[in-house]
Amino acid sequence: MIIGVPKESFPGERRVALVPSALPHLAKAGLEVLIQSQAGHDAGYPDEEYKNKGARIAATRGEVFASAEIIAQVLCYGSNDVTGGADIPLMRRGQLLLGFLRPFGTAEVVQEIAAAGVTSFSVELMPRTTRAQSMDALSSMATICGYKAVLIAADLVPRIFPMLTTAAGTITPARVLVIGAGVAGLQAIATARRLGAVVSAYDLRPAAKEQVLSLGGRFVELPIEAQSAQDERGYARAQDEAFYARQRELLGRAVMESDVVISTAVVPGKKAPVLITGEMVRGMAPGSVVVDLAAERGGNCELTRAGEQVVVNGVTVIGRINVASGVPYHASQMYARNLTSFLQLLVKNGQVNLNLQDDIIRETLVTEGGEIVNPRVRQFFSMPELARTE
Ligand code: NAD
Repeated sequence: MIIGVPKESFPGERRVALVPSALPHLAKAGLEVLIQSQAGHDAGYPDEEYKNKGARIAATRGEVFASAEIIAQVLCYGSNDVTGGADIPLMRRGQLLLGFLRPFGTAEVVQEIAAAGVTSFSVELMPRTTRAQSMDALSSMATICGYKAVLIAADLVPRIFPMLTTAAGTITPARVLVIGAGVAGLQAIATARRLGAVVSAYDLRPAAKEQVLSLGGRFVELPIEAQSAQDERGYARAQDEAFYARQRELLGRAVMESDVVISTAVVPGKKAPVLITGEMVRGMAPGSVVVDLAAERGGNCELTRAGEQVVVNGVTVIGRINVASGVPYHASQMYARNLTSFLQLLVKNGQVNLNLQDDIIRETLVTEGGEIVNPRVRQFFSMPELARTE
């Protein structure tokens, strides 16, 4: 069975879906890799390394799609809304597609993928269970994003992070506030701490407090309590606008006292809550930096513009998107490990086993046989339930 890796086509994307070290593991499952020439180049993996691990190199994207039974991508059509549509005519009915699909994005796009007849799996829908941990691409990319966000801020802020006592006087440490202490937020806390900053963090899930403290951060306690803050999958639940208004009111001081704010607060399938107002930003010291990792989802800061950097009263608000692509070597390595674990479950002895009794396969499957078959996705788009024949 051939697994094809086309070069990523989203503008500026530098990651690749599989790295050479994954190939021996895939070979054991009966999978042979066909990779488009130069697909790994921008991530630091030359064609030669893939060849040395047994891959075949395809000269064109068309050849990859035409020969492979499974297509592995980072940003598939869905999450790649710029150039992803061009892949649809290259796909064949019954072909398997695996990657970031943005299943709660646009109904028409998911419908288009379904209409192409491909059996698609969305890594975003991976259940957050112990068994699926090694396949959790969202966590891998969030880890990279949290780390990189701190470096982006550190590079721009006109101060250094650690406290220094020198012959030229004492330098006070930078104050970093992290809003949203999930996977990305926790990695941001750890990274900022390693650089010597004084770090505070806030999350509406009470469970986050212990994790923040364990990383040496201070937990910002707000005198408000979210209604059932966490769902059964560990994600934050959406709150009403009155709650967010109260959050903004209470977070103001913590934001204005910080040199760097990194915000990561999101709720699956919803627009990100606005937690940082323009007024708060204007209250920060000139030179301060806000890195809004929720920019792609609408932003946690009122002033965020996705993909841009705005400066207001000397404060820079960074709405960079696709941050994980900025660390392509390790982002690709982690992603490839996640895909390989999933493929080892899905493919045995070169045969796909679409075992819908398995929650990992069932929950990540989005389209099959021309239909959107995922109940969560159908419900999200208000589509009627599908009568399923096993
Ligand atoms: P996420 O990316 O969906 O959200 C980021 C963070 O923003 C979350 O911590 C969330 O609580 C927070 N947030 C949302 N709205 C907020 C608001 N109004 N104010 C403040 N904070 C807000 O979350 P995530 O990083 O994917 O992780 C969510 C949870 O899942 C965490 O508890 C994480 O540890 C857990 N998790 C478990 C597994 C596993 O068991 N395999 C894997 C990954 C993550």
